Amino acid sequence: MADKRDYYEVLGLQKGASEDEIKKAYRKAAKANHPDLHPGDKEAEARFKEANEAYAILSDPDKRAKYDQFGFAGVDPNFAASAGAGGFEGFGDLGDIFGDIFGGFGGFGGFGGQARQQSRSGPRRGESLRVRLTISFEEAAFGCKKDINITRTDQCPDCKGTGCAPGTTPEICPDCKGTGTVRTQQRTPFGVFQSSGPCPKCGGSGKIIHSPCPKCRGNGSIRAQKKLNVSIPAGIDDGESISLRGQGNAGTNGGPAGDLLVQVQVRPSPTFQREGTGIYITADVSFVQAALGAEIQVPTLDGPVSLNIPEGTQTGSVFRLRGKGVPNVRSGVRGDEFVTVNLQTPKNLSRKQRELLQEFAELSGDKVKKRHRL
Ligand SMILES: [Zn+2]
Ligand SMILES: [Zn+2]
Repeated sequence: MADKRDYYEVLGLQKGASEDEIKKAYRKAAKANHPDLHPGDKEAEARFKEANEAYAILSDPDKRAKYDQFGFAGVDPNFAASAGAGGFEGFGDLGDIFGDIFGGFGGFGGFGGQARQQSRSGPRRGESLRVRLTISFEEAAFGCKKDINITRTDQCPDCKGTGCAPGTTPEICPDCKGTGTVRTQQRTPFGVFQSSGPCPKCGGSGKIIHSPCPKCRGNGSIRAQKKLNVSIPAGIDDGESISLRGQGNAGTNGGPAGDLLVQVQVRPSPTFQREGTGIYITADVSFVQAALGAEIQVPTLDGPVSLNIPEGTQTGSVFRLRGKGVPNVRSGVRGDEFVTVNLQTPKNLSRKQRELLQEFAELSGDKVKKRHRL
């Protein structure tokens, strides 16, 4: 509102303009900037509102006199918000002005369909569906094929989605001329505005079905149970989804079907931990094996493999098995497996073992408890 233009300037008028000149100028401005002629054009919409406001003041002799004397201060700046019903008897002829504007375009109905980009009767995409699928750790790592059962809306096979009994066709709704939308006029202090809503006669579909298809009762769609065989790519991780295009609910009026989103849950493995493409396990190694070195068997996704534990291995040491991880879901390149050594201290020693360990302790200079059992 800071740089509000003078009302006369808005309508291209001189200060002493006659009522007739004001009306003519307003018609011209309203015609040139009507939002329905410039869908989505914010500038035109602003000019249109500006012209409406200017006309609301200048066409009212009282308000015009106050505006002439005091400028914007003479007229309520919150005019739009505060204008109550019944306060604008002087605007009765606005309807005529709009009648005139729309008269040139072959009536409201024909013209409305072009102005609205997305009418309810146009093609609409079906909704996407979501389904959960639980698979094993190994299935996630190597990929799998799974059957899933879903209930979705499919196009009616009998009427091919038209909703009409075989051999019949729908009638174009006479009220909305098939657009599915009807316009209503609303009088506001700034003029008469058009608003549109779903056509009550046809419920917004734009057509009237006289003999509905018996299979779908005129809906054009049916609920159907579907069994789908889904390919789960190798490397998918818990919580990830795969999208099956066009396997969701059927679209309406020729619109495409929605998608089916399969959200994958991966059961944890008793053996392996997974982090991205990495596999993590812990391997128990006896202290003697760690001290002297050993070759141990460790599990991998491909079965057990040998791992060389070099002599002097400490507990918590991590060994890497290259390429034994999970494939990257996009590149297919496998990650690595990481084996953490968990040193086992021997328990329940035999007399012989105890003697040998005590001897070992003496050689190492370690102080140990001297206790004889058995
Ligand atoms: Zn049908
Ligand atoms: Zn209709």
